[in-house]
Amino acid sequence: MGYDHPLGEIALSFRPKRIVASRSKGLLTIEWTDGLSCDYPISGLRAACPCAECRGGHENMGQPGLPEMLEIPIINKASTELVRLEQVGNYAIQLFWKDGHSYGIYSWQYLRELCPEIREES
Ligand SMILES: [Zn+2]
Repeated sequence: MGYDHPLGEIALSFRPKRIVASRSKGLLTIEWTDGLSCDYPISGLRAACPCAECRGGHENMGQPGLPEMLEIPIINKASTELVRLEQVGNYAIQLFWKDGHSYGIYSWQYLRELCPEIREES
């Protein structure tokens, strides 16, 4: 993999209860243990891919997510087609895209920061 995990541990007051990716809706839905439900546009998740390549270098990794990142348009269709997702340890999911890209590890923390529903409330 070649990815360092964060040193130390962050106690999260939330974690996903259920993660559902719907190809027909183009949405990834996460239901959290604290009752919040977030709908992420799948193409937007690619735009917000947290990997070093997509963020423009290792020094830009670990930046907080912003719901606005989900709205960055992506022209290459294959880049925005989700093939599958896998849980990584107990802290993240990894998304595999049709163009072969799969470096992005989306931590629960990062997904919460991206959640469009949180923005609408504030
Ligand atoms: Zn990426």
